[in-house]
Amino acid sequence: MSGTESCERCGSQRPRGVTRCPDCGHERTSRWRYVSWLALGIAVPVLALATALLGYLALFSIQQGTIGAAGPAIALWIGIWVGAALVVTIVYKRKTRARTATEPATR
Ligand SMILES: [Zn+2]
Repeated sequence: MSGTESCERCGSQRPRGVTRCPDCGHERTSRWRYVSWLALGIAVPVLALATALLGYLALFSIQQGTIGAAGPAIALWIGIWVGAALVVTIVYKRKTRARTATEPATR
C-alpha cells in the first residue's frame, strides 16, 4: 500500500517510506535496529563464551602437546570472529548508508 502514514509521535501525515517525520523530526523505529540489537545481544555472550572455551582448549592442547587436535577448534574460533567482524561491518555500512541517504532529503 502506498500513500501516507501517520507519525508515531505527533500524528501528522507523511509520505510512506520516509523515516524521519518532517514536522517533529521523530525517526521511525526501524525493524533493522531491533534485529541488529538482538543479534548483538546474542552474538556477544556467545562469542565471549566461545572465545573462553576454545581459547582454553587451545591452551590446554598446547600444554599437552596435541596442538593438531586443537587445529579445527582454533580454525572455528577464528572463523567465528571473522564472521562477527563481517556482520558488524555490514550492519555499520547499512546504518551509515541509510543516514547519508536521508540527509539530502531533509535539507
Ligand atoms: Zn511527527
